Amino acid sequence: MYRLQNYIAGEWVNGAGDGQNLFNAVTGEEIATASTKGLDFKAMTDYARRVGNPALRKMTFHERGNMLKALAMHLRKHLDEFYKVSYQTGATKADSWVDIEGGIGNLFSNASLRRRLSNETFIVDGESINLGKNNTFMGTHIMVPKEGVAIHINAFNFPVWGMLEKIAVNLLAGMPAIVKPATITSYLTEAVVKEIIASKILPEGALQLICGSAGDLLNHVMSQDVVTFTGSAITGLMLKKTNAILENNVPFNMEADSLNSIVLGEDVTPENPEWDIFIKEIRREMTLKCGQRCTGVRRIFVPENKIEAVEKSLKAALAQTVIGNPLNEKVRMGSLAGESQREEVKTQVKKLLASSQIIYGSLDSVQLVDADAVKGAFFSPILLMNDKPFEAKEAHEVEAFGPVSTLMPYKNLDDAIALSKMGKGSLVSTIVTADYSIAKKYVIEAATHHGRILVLNNECAKENTGHGSPLPMLTHGGPGRAGGGEEMGGLRGVKHYLQRTALQGSPTTITEVVNVYQQYANGKSTGKHPFEKHFEELQIGDQIVTEKRTITSEDIDRFADLSGDHFYAHIKTTDFTGTMFEQQVAHGYFIMSIAAGLFVDSYELNPVLLNYGIDELRFTKPVYPGAEIHIRFTCKEKLPNDKRVIEKPEDFKRGDDIEKGIVKWLVEMIDETNEITGVATILTMVKTLKQ
Ligand code: NAP
Repeated sequence: MYRLQNYIAGEWVNGAGDGQNLFNAVTGEEIATASTKGLDFKAMTDYARRVGNPALRKMTFHERGNMLKALAMHLRKHLDEFYKVSYQTGATKADSWVDIEGGIGNLFSNASLRRRLSNETFIVDGESINLGKNNTFMGTHIMVPKEGVAIHINAFNFPVWGMLEKIAVNLLAGMPAIVKPATITSYLTEAVVKEIIASKILPEGALQLICGSAGDLLNHVMSQDVVTFTGSAITGLMLKKTNAILENNVPFNMEADSLNSIVLGEDVTPENPEWDIFIKEIRREMTLKCGQRCTGVRRIFVPENKIEAVEKSLKAALAQTVIGNPLNEKVRMGSLAGESQREEVKTQVKKLLASSQIIYGSLDSVQLVDADAVKGAFFSPILLMNDKPFEAKEAHEVEAFGPVSTLMPYKNLDDAIALSKMGKGSLVSTIVTADYSIAKKYVIEAATHHGRILVLNNECAKENTGHGSPLPMLTHGGPGRAGGGEEMGGLRGVKHYLQRTALQGSPTTITEVVNVYQQYANGKSTGKHPFEKHFEELQIGDQIVTEKRTITSEDIDRFADLSGDHFYAHIKTTDFTGTMFEQQVAHGYFIMSIAAGLFVDSYELNPVLLNYGIDELRFTKPVYPGAEIHIRFTCKEKLPNDKRVIEKPEDFKRGDDIEKGIVKWLVEMIDETNEITGVATILTMVKTLKQ
């Protein structure tokens, strides 16, 4: 029998002893054993901190992002192998797509975040703050990768996505990971990690894998480590109490069971498109991955006068679900992950039966295509009805981690909101309504108890990514029972693995430390206009101070005519009594435009390819006719811009073949009294030397 291997300190290692037997969820055949007996878990954490961490932290965010992209492209070449293994977990092709390609998509998504960051090993976080009247003292925040290891303890339901969605983030942040998938489906995680390691794309020590028990791993965590847990609340709570976690204040991010809900708005009738949208969403949530999704719909709230009609529509929809061998193309729902899960789900449904009754499906039989209900871990979709949702506590507390959901009536929106909160904290809640006021009330009043709220109607139904799908750009997690954790979420997620440090000093010192120009820092005058320099030649702080231009009333009149902006403040005949202005005032955009006229000095072709936009623009003092404006123009920040990968010639866009970077410039618009009348950060694309 194949023995799953653990990847430890740069080697594939077998655990000792008989190990735990792992089975094909569809056929019941034994496929592997897993053991971690005899492994040195302390040595694993040491290795990650000693070898993986320094290797990753010395890479810049761009290098790490490109590494993730390369890894994603590499894994995409092995999809067929992964799908083959995935079927053994009972997953259909659609289920596996979410797990495998969803996971790889997560790597791509995190890789793209690099574009928003400087090419540094750290992040400058948020805005700079001036702390002195004379502009010589300021503060900002930086974030650096923690010096420890990220330990991920994952649930069994998404063996690939569960790992990739987490390591994408810690790797981008610059921390190594130890991944411990749930043992029952760890053979799929192992297959993917084998490919990751074989690709040699990650630096040594960046990833280690445990297939089997985690032993005493958590006893060795230290203050710079981060632990994430996805699984049941009971296990999570037990692990969270580990002494080493408490004593060292180790962040413990928990994603646990969640009694997610969907609400049908009172406005929706069977004639509205939202009716079918509601029914389809529930069917999808109940049957995808055989209901083994942390975000699955467990509670369905319906206006009491529509409950019978919903019951009828739902039963009809569920009856269309073809269940059986996931390799059969007609099959829409596969099996649970194994026999132990089937027993577990049955036990949980029996608990729910204390206050609900089954209105669709059966605990003992299920009609299958091309599969054996005794050998495989198949389970019928089960719809329960609970008539007294305020009295029944089981429906709001017991999670049956399978294709199981409970239908409950509500009287009015206030009741629906109160019922949704009875889950005591969930990952996600959906309201299906075409009425914006219902949507608003539900969102604002229920938000305290849900990590995500989807408002679903006909406007977004086609593009809707689904109640159950956590997206890498948004945070995933929920309060209370759902664990109180937060993961992914674009840069928000990355920050979980970074230490934020407030930084104080003079603007010039801070410019030198963070390599982003801070207002009032010393500029560098090199005698060459910065627009004549290529990307590599530009230095942060390169500065020019322009000639002056006198603003005239005629200029303002002409700009008003040209732009069509005849706002009263720009018209010289306006009576300015009681206004914010003394007299005709120049348009802020006019000053910004003449700023460009002053700092763009050359009509020759130069390395600046184009103006890319404005990040921030503030007008801080009115400019009246007679004012003399000059510009201080400083190179603020440089962001590399990788060439797009052109997969098909028709995707080529003009300029794709030019090597370039993004340069941000600070534009200060200064008047004759030396006061700043406006500030902007503009962006340009600048050619690199290598073409
Ligand atoms: P579980 O039994 O709680 O196991 C979760 C993980 O904890 C597994 O990797 C398990 O490993 C590990 N574990 C158990 N005891 C441990 C110990 N003493 N030390 C270290 N690790 C230990 O949950 P599951 O059955 O895998 O997953 C189903 C549950 O996860 C459901 O309740 C579901 O709601 C929840 N879930 C939540 C989310 C979310 O994002 N909120 C996502 C997916 C799933 P072994 O397999 O080796 O026991």
